[in-house]
Amino acid sequence: MNAENANKWMEDNEQRMREVSKKIWSVPETAFREVSSSAELIRVLKEEGFEVEESYGGIPTAFRAVYGSGSPVIGLLAEYDALPGLSQKVSTKKEEVEEGAPGHGCGHNLMAAAHLTAAIALKEGMTSKEDYTVVLYGCPAEEILVGKGFMAREGAFKELDLAVSWHPSTRNMVVGTTMTALESGEFHFKGKTAHAAGDPENGRSALDAVEIMDIGANYLREHVTDDVRIHYQITNGGGAPNIVPDKASVLYFTRANNRRHLLETFERVKKCAEGAATMTETSYELKSRGGCYEILPNEPLIEVMDEAMKEVKGPEYTQEEKDFAEALNKTNSQYERLSADENYESIHTGAMGIMREHMGGSTDVGDVSYIVPLVMFMTATQNSLATGHSWHITATSGHSIGEKGMLYAARTMVRFVEKVLNNPEILERAKDEFAQRTKVEKYNCPVPPELKIEDVLS
Ligand SMILES: [Zn+2]
Repeated sequence: MNAENANKWMEDNEQRMREVSKKIWSVPETAFREVSSSAELIRVLKEEGFEVEESYGGIPTAFRAVYGSGSPVIGLLAEYDALPGLSQKVSTKKEEVEEGAPGHGCGHNLMAAAHLTAAIALKEGMTSKEDYTVVLYGCPAEEILVGKGFMAREGAFKELDLAVSWHPSTRNMVVGTTMTALESGEFHFKGKTAHAAGDPENGRSALDAVEIMDIGANYLREHVTDDVRIHYQITNGGGAPNIVPDKASVLYFTRANNRRHLLETFERVKKCAEGAATMTETSYELKSRGGCYEILPNEPLIEVMDEAMKEVKGPEYTQEEKDFAEALNKTNSQYERLSADENYESIHTGAMGIMREHMGGSTDVGDVSYIVPLVMFMTATQNSLATGHSWHITATSGHSIGEKGMLYAARTMVRFVEKVLNNPEILERAKDEFAQRTKVEKYNCPVPPELKIEDVLS
């Protein structure tokens, strides 16, 4: 690999890559509806000579772009879905671009552009087409945590020797923890209608069943391990108070640090549904909404990514950028206390190393980590006190603060790949560790064969 050529390309194309990010930011699209976002990425990839398989596996907004034919095969995971209701201008005040519209409140526009930048730079760094192979997977619907499961069901990711995923954050760090696995399913209860006042004795309320199930699940919380999270949303609560509802449903998300443990817990959630059905003389059907794996850490890759992050120069911020971040931080209700910390910065600088503390969220990147050795890292693209999935993040993801973190991420990915290519032992060790860790827990796609995209769109 000729890293000089790769780095030169990134330097020369900074502005162009910022524009791709901004374009995706300007047309925020939610899960599985990322038509123009995926089209923009595909357009650039084709322009750069990548071979692109569009609508990968029959998923309209997924794609697979490949360049080169050598070994190893390096995978990059681009995401580009936005979040509902997080429309926001590039402003330090809460101002929607369009009322109630989606927005990039998780910064996936930056994520798309960073992986795109790294993919093209790695192409530019090839000494010949046989040097190595770069595969950029266009991964839709991360926010509903099943996009990569849908792709994996169609055979994605298996071809890779290793995968890299970067995510926007408040900090520069390598993910050295698992995050959480998720299983989701909608419980549809069926009862019998009757006049709620006239002949209630003839009714069997599906809504009662939902409520009793929820009470059961709330008691269950006391008897699960600390990492377990159970949350639900009543998706159908009946039609009117004076009709005993014959149909009602509730959607459950259950999470835990480990998928096997999670599935055991989910069985107990199902018992709450069974108990509720018995008590109310109703029946229920469970419709899976899929799920995802936790991240399987890979220590050899984590170590190399940590080195790469520290070797690559991080961004420097202008006074205008610091002021913008500071103004956003001031809207955080804990600003007084948090900004008094001696290490406080309006935007975090410097690489903090490997994150070992528990991170409660989930990502479908976990699925890929059970298919091939994977490393995930984050860079600061937000004001330091931004909260997750918030208007702050939509604002900074459309600002130069986000773009600088995005370009730092791309440079880090290239440096990481350079290190892996220069020392084949790293990949050997990564593969050995992966084989060890997946000996017992093999990947079993959480997206069942019968699940369709329409089933997970609400
Ligand atoms: Zn995200």
